[in-house]
Amino acid sequence: MSKPKPDRIYLSPPDIGEAERRYVKEAFDTNWIAPLGPNVDAFEEEFCDVVGAKHAAALSSGTAALHLALRLAGVGEGDEVVVPTLTFVASASPAVYLRADPVFVDSERRSWNIDPNLVEEFFKKRAETNDLPKALVAVHLYGQCADIDALVKLCNRYEVTLIEDAAEALGASYRGESPGVFGRCGIFSFNGNKIITSSGGGMLVSNDEQLIGQARKLATQARDPAPHYQHSQLGYNYRMSNVVAGIGRGQLESLTEKVEATRANFATYREALAGLPGVQFMPEAEWGRHTRWLTTLTIDADEAGVDREQVREAMVAQNIEARPVWKPMHLQPVFEDAEVIGGSVAADLFERGLCLPSGSSLTDEQQQRVIDVFRQVFETR
Ligand SMILES: *Cc1c(COP(=O)(O)O)cnc(C)c1O
Repeated sequence: MSKPKPDRIYLSPPDIGEAERRYVKEAFDTNWIAPLGPNVDAFEEEFCDVVGAKHAAALSSGTAALHLALRLAGVGEGDEVVVPTLTFVASASPAVYLRADPVFVDSERRSWNIDPNLVEEFFKKRAETNDLPKALVAVHLYGQCADIDALVKLCNRYEVTLIEDAAEALGASYRGESPGVFGRCGIFSFNGNKIITSSGGGMLVSNDEQLIGQARKLATQARDPAPHYQHSQLGYNYRMSNVVAGIGRGQLESLTEKVEATRANFATYREALAGLPGVQFMPEAEWGRHTRWLTTLTIDADEAGVDREQVREAMVAQNIEARPVWKPMHLQPVFEDAEVIGGSVAADLFERGLCLPSGSSLTDEQQQRVIDVFRQVFETR
């Protein structure tokens, strides 16, 4: 008989507590099983307090939030939107929903986020022909902020709308402040694998009250104020339900503990693995605090004598979910015609990068299993 498979260890599974049940039960007990309701209002307010934004709209997903953000930035057919190439596809697809063209920009090594020097060169060149992009989507990858000050300066100077995709970076900080509040607006995600989850959902934040008001309207089919159903614009069905918002409220209460847990996971991995030849962890840039939503590292095959795929496959064989770093957008078949600026840094991080199980509920025993498998690949090379 073969040995039973060890229990599956996930990359970033949901970590749900009692408060979530209480808020969801309240929604049931009061029959607020609807889009909108008291949990939604409270979630928006509580979220504003946590990130230091003035206004927020709770939505059905982070992707929906970015779609609205771009539409409210006036992005439309033929416009260009700058997006880092190293990201999840949802940073780029909403621009295409609006028939705009994404322009992908490479990463910088010190944060793995969009390289402000390349952005500057691009803006400068485009300013000469009066052909600047409409917006820049600054992604804060894996729990770490991009170099926001540099991006804010460039976007102000060249009058490009800055939108922050902070879907992976709730709980992070940049010079003491939360991401999402530096640009014209910012978006967050509560998908099942993010640092907090509502089972699926997103948030659009901004200090511009009018922008959030327009987002709420577009998210509810763009109904005009009239007793009958009247529409002078086309909208979407993008609002968050009151049940879902209850889960989000409960999760938000334990955000601090969750970030402590993911940072502790990282510290343990680093302690156990940093001494191995060719292993380098994603750096934490001097400007802020990395949540380590996911612990990510690179393996240099020449130095290590093993490559990323050997380590990843050893994990898979032990029922451990480990994944390559995001495949860059400029290497995606769906974006094969898009313009790309640089790209070799992101391609290298994809080639050599690995994400390890990093959930806030990861147990010591589970983490030890991951470490043992990792070390074993190096010992048997
Ligand atoms: C998860 C994610 C999104 C999309 O969020 P959803 O809530 O899943 O729609 C957008 N951008 C990045 C960088 C993400 O990781």
